[in-house]
Amino acid sequence: MKTAAAYLASLRERDLVLYVDGERVAEPVDHPKVRPSVNAVAATYAMAHDPATRALAVAHSDLIDAPVNRFCHLFRDEADLTAKLHFQRALGALTGTCFQRCVGLDGLNALFLATWESGPDAHGRFVAWLKGVQTRDEMLCGAMTDPKGDRSKRPPEVPESYLRVVERRPDGVVLRGAKVHQTGAANAHQILVMPGQALREGEEDFAVAAALPVDAPGVTMVLGRQPSDERKGGPDAGNLRYGGQECVVLFEDVFVPSERVFLDGDLDAAATLVDAFAGYHRASYGGCKPGNLDVLIGAADLLTREHGIRKASHVRDKLVEMTHLTETIHGLGLAASGKGTRHDAGVWKVDPILANVCKHHVTKLPYEVVRLAEDLAGGMVATMPSIADLDHPELGPALETVVGGRDRAQLLRLVEYMSYGSGAVPFRIECMHGAGSP
Ligand code: SF4
Ligand code: FE
Repeated sequence: MKTAAAYLASLRERDLVLYVDGERVAEPVDHPKVRPSVNAVAATYAMAHDPATRALAVAHSDLIDAPVNRFCHLFRDEADLTAKLHFQRALGALTGTCFQRCVGLDGLNALFLATWESGPDAHGRFVAWLKGVQTRDEMLCGAMTDPKGDRSKRPPEVPESYLRVVERRPDGVVLRGAKVHQTGAANAHQILVMPGQALREGEEDFAVAAALPVDAPGVTMVLGRQPSDERKGGPDAGNLRYGGQECVVLFEDVFVPSERVFLDGDLDAAATLVDAFAGYHRASYGGCKPGNLDVLIGAADLLTREHGIRKASHVRDKLVEMTHLTETIHGLGLAASGKGTRHDAGVWKVDPILANVCKHHVTKLPYEVVRLAEDLAGGMVATMPSIADLDHPELGPALETVVGGRDRAQLLRLVEYMSYGSGAVPFRIECMHGAGSP
């Protein structure tokens, strides 16, 4: 298993084509708008080597008969499904944001059972590839969402709005199109492309699942902007070390050799894949989002102490309500995992109804927690001067009387970051649209 340092070093070996703010980035790892999201992924590697968290982060792979990071692991039983949620909650509480590795994990499990249904050739290719991913402890970009364009049209009517096979050669396929909202794409080693929806007869070119290196010729990534992203890494960031990341990924005639093409035109297996992935990832939100909410509740709680209102009954009621909403989401994720069923391929699936109910609540309850956090934080969350003003030798003492000490200022910045700053993209808006819009 890679250490965090080995993960960072491995990213530097790539020849990734990434654009940020209209410019090609020489080394993504060192870019101030990218680095916080790299740090969040690195935490998934670091926890596998920390004695305090190793039990959460490491599992035994029967495929390669070795310990693997849980983010490369197959769900062999219900305990693996629930262990994923506990790991995600711990990571969400540590980073306060999206750590980006779950889409690949949920994708590889969904592909394991979908390729099994497709047949021994497809499954054999996939398992051979997965063994390599586990051995090298790779970060996968699970690439599912197509741009779609006019939703009233089927993919063949607007092919440019979907990733598709444009050429079949004896030794592989050529892909063209794009995937959008790609979590952690620029921090990954490989892209695992999957269809984003169930497809009909005549739409076989869109039913493709395949893996390719992030720096394969023809792949271009463009980083999505986030509110206040120019603050990243600086004193007003709110979350100094960690951040999320979403990219547009363009595929301009990208060749993928046959051994990494897992599904090509098998509509039934593609439908199985989409369905299984949606279940896994909707349950995943019962892990990471409660972890992020822990951070927000903690910040709000500390601010009420700073404000001297912690003991007021209406404040206690609000903190209890925030906790109740958070644990509702977590409980549903755990319930979907604990009511799992075994697929004939040997991996376990979550309960689809409970996973969908979990995601349904995720589109609503965190918004209420944010509202209560903004209530408890007070108006200064939106009007506080910069930390540079607080540090100014002449202004500082006068501002401290008005704003309070450095602890209060940092807590306000953290609530701002998660409510409507750069952290709101992977936290709040992702609650609405991640793992499938409501
Ligand atoms: Fe993982 Fe949550 Fe980020 Fe999805 S939104 S990749 S489940 S941390
Ligand atoms: Fe997501």
